[in-house]
Amino acid sequence: MTMTLDAQARKVTQAQLYINGEWVAPKNNQSFPTVDPNTGETIADIPRGDASDIDRAVAAAKAVAVEWQFTDAIARAALLRQLAALVTEHADELARLEALDSGHYLSKAQDLMGAIPLWLDYFAGLADKVGGRTIEVPGNKLSFTLLEPLGVTGHIIPWNYPLLILVRSCAPALALGNTCVVKPAEDTSLSALKFAELVHQAGFPPGVFNVVTGLGPEAGAALAAHPDVAGITFTGSTETGKTVAKLAADHVAQVNLELGGKSPTIVFPDADLDDAVEGAVQGFCSHAGQVCVAGTRLFVHADIKDAFLGKLVERLQTAQVGDGFDDSTQMGPLVSKKQYERVRNYIEVGKSEATLFYGGGKPAGTPEGGYFVEPTVFTDVTSDARISREEIFGPVASVITWTDENDLIAACNDSIYGLFAVIFTQNITKALNTARRLQVGGVMINEWFGELPMAPHGGYKQSGTGREEGLEAVHGYTQVKHVTVNLDGSLRSGADWAGAPL
Ligand code: NDP
Repeated sequence: MTMTLDAQARKVTQAQLYINGEWVAPKNNQSFPTVDPNTGETIADIPRGDASDIDRAVAAAKAVAVEWQFTDAIARAALLRQLAALVTEHADELARLEALDSGHYLSKAQDLMGAIPLWLDYFAGLADKVGGRTIEVPGNKLSFTLLEPLGVTGHIIPWNYPLLILVRSCAPALALGNTCVVKPAEDTSLSALKFAELVHQAGFPPGVFNVVTGLGPEAGAALAAHPDVAGITFTGSTETGKTVAKLAADHVAQVNLELGGKSPTIVFPDADLDDAVEGAVQGFCSHAGQVCVAGTRLFVHADIKDAFLGKLVERLQTAQVGDGFDDSTQMGPLVSKKQYERVRNYIEVGKSEATLFYGGGKPAGTPEGGYFVEPTVFTDVTSDARISREEIFGPVASVITWTDENDLIAACNDSIYGLFAVIFTQNITKALNTARRLQVGGVMINEWFGELPMAPHGGYKQSGTGREEGLEAVHGYTQVKHVTVNLDGSLRSGADWAGAPL
């Protein structure tokens, strides 16, 4: 069953669950609408899979887990490379689906889809390169470890970068011999279903990759709680991440959590101000601020505050906010009405606890019914202000001035989050000292974030556990088996305690 996109009418038909290599309706035959955030109009009805569909998908994934584990790594890698080629071939359709469903503007969605094969290729390359190690033990023995897959892994995906986040966790899982069950976000299921078509076309055996769309507390919770799911990767809010971790703990599943953030962008007085302003704007406006690593706390040195704010206004005045299918658009809408109302509420909170310096409204000329918010900047923000402490997930930044470096570091680290930070300075010693003192999982110097498959990504503190991407991702999808062989052929030859008689 092929899902079809009518790009002109902005409608999609025939969305179904993908379980055991087949397209199926959910057992309850229910669905829910997904909307175009540019207009608020319904694009498609999405199957509302529930615990019974998760059961079916996990059973299918479990049934082929051993066969997939013992499929040659070279063969697993070849399938991933075939999938990468198909993603490239279908990149434009995937980009249109992603833009329609998530609010990424079209050329950005095209860039993202064009990049996804990098993740598939990178992890395909790892399939036959990671392994265990040999261990020096006393006696005439050979001791070594095997890195083995976990078995069935569950992947709960958020709505901000739907297909990229799906691929960055499923590609290593599949490459290393796990079978996958995916639960996309209810607001953005379409690219996952299209991707499942490509997985099918690439020739992955039935059951190795499954997609169950549905609601978080139904399908998502059932996946996290399923006793046959050996590992769960969750990306999303810290609150839901804690729920998922508790559900997984009941059957002692391995958990990778990539959660929220409130990342600092630090501007030293010697920074190149044009670069710093550009990095700051990218940091809180990229995808309308709906990015886990969004730089929403702008720590600007007092000596350059006025110059920085002047350039910031000039830059924000050029930002084109609008329908993602207009060629000129640089920032699209928020993903949903719920997210729009949440961000608008934070803007009202900000007005009561700080000074609204820029924006705060609906951008002029944006489509009626769409979920658009102006880039918004607050100044005079205190360290206890909610807008400077809570993850807003919209294009809203707090400017905080500083003079003393120790106070700066303390203020940056005064957060439950620890995902990411950006530093602008010409002084490399200062940059590296600052990078070492920040309690975060990633730092960029003189540039805002650029995600890559080879660099590990994840958080300190309540921003998460485990790492996605890079060689470090291997730990999230493998377990270690230790094997020792007695090479003497005699049970009593060992000199260690384990060889002692009962
Ligand atoms: P959630 O964290 O609730 O959703 C992420 C995923 O978890 C979705 O697939 C969701 O399904 C699923 N989910 C929801 N509830 C459960 C549950 N009880 N058990 C298992 N899975 C569940 O994000 P929201 O959409 O509610 O966004 C709220 C806030 O989260 C945002 O404003 C932002 O602050 C943060 N967020 C952070 C992200 C990041 O990358 N760090 C990404 C997305 C959001 P469903 O879509 O059906 O709810």
